[in-house]
Amino acid sequence: MSNILRPIRLLLLGAPGSGKGTQTSRILKDFPQISAISSGDLLRQQIKLGTPIGKEAEAIIKKGDLIPDDSIVSLIKEELNAKNFLNASSSWLLDGFPRNATQAHVLDKTLSSHDSSLNLVVELDVPEEVILDRIENRWVHIPSGRVYNLTFNPPKVPGKDDITGEPLSKRPDDNPVTFKERIDTYKHQTLPLLEYYNKFGILRSVKGETSDIIYPQLKELLLKEFSKQ
Ligand code: ATP
Ligand code: MG
Repeated sequence: MSNILRPIRLLLLGAPGSGKGTQTSRILKDFPQISAISSGDLLRQQIKLGTPIGKEAEAIIKKGDLIPDDSIVSLIKEELNAKNFLNASSSWLLDGFPRNATQAHVLDKTLSSHDSSLNLVVELDVPEEVILDRIENRWVHIPSGRVYNLTFNPPKVPGKDDITGEPLSKRPDDNPVTFKERIDTYKHQTLPLLEYYNKFGILRSVKGETSDIIYPQLKELLLKEFSKQ
């Protein structure tokens, strides 16, 4: 286990399909003291459960738009509490939230009032052509958010989650039309957050065509910033 000297409070930013979920799984394996919240996974679970926010989210996600800020903010705030993210000694990461300036401001205010501000933001920089290709091959295990790729990272048994053996699903928004919308939404609403976090001096970027190329860089960054090696 890595020798972490101070809490890690990490935000992963990156285009849809840039591998935030895959990098999250790998981080959780190498850094067992970190816990994660993925807004997309949370929403997909809400849809599966048929909750009011799930019902609201379903059509919006299919279109590739963003869920209204009020809804996603209250869902995430609940989760921040439930997972103890507002304890200043916890180490954690966020994937998929915040995704626009309003969400970023709400988050920063909540975190700073608990002495738990983000201390690292990492951009996953993956070429757009590569991403488009990957989406078609992507399958997910909805309850856990585990992501598989038929080319790079296939499940051990076709169509089944490695850990639970439960069936994998295709995300309804992983089709070329919705995907284009999601990329546009990302460019217009989320990309400006890079500049925002850069001003705080906590933005780093890792670049590569595959998650296998990106992960060692990300791990190195975490070790360099938070541990004595
Ligand atoms: P990937 O999972 O490939 O990284 P992504 O980032 O587009 O792609 P998710 O994070 O799983 O996908 O989000 C899926 C959808 O859920 C989004 O397109 C959006 O509709 C909704 N969503 C997720 N997070 C938020 C958020 N913070 N604010 C508003 N909507 C959100
Ligand atoms: Mg994701």
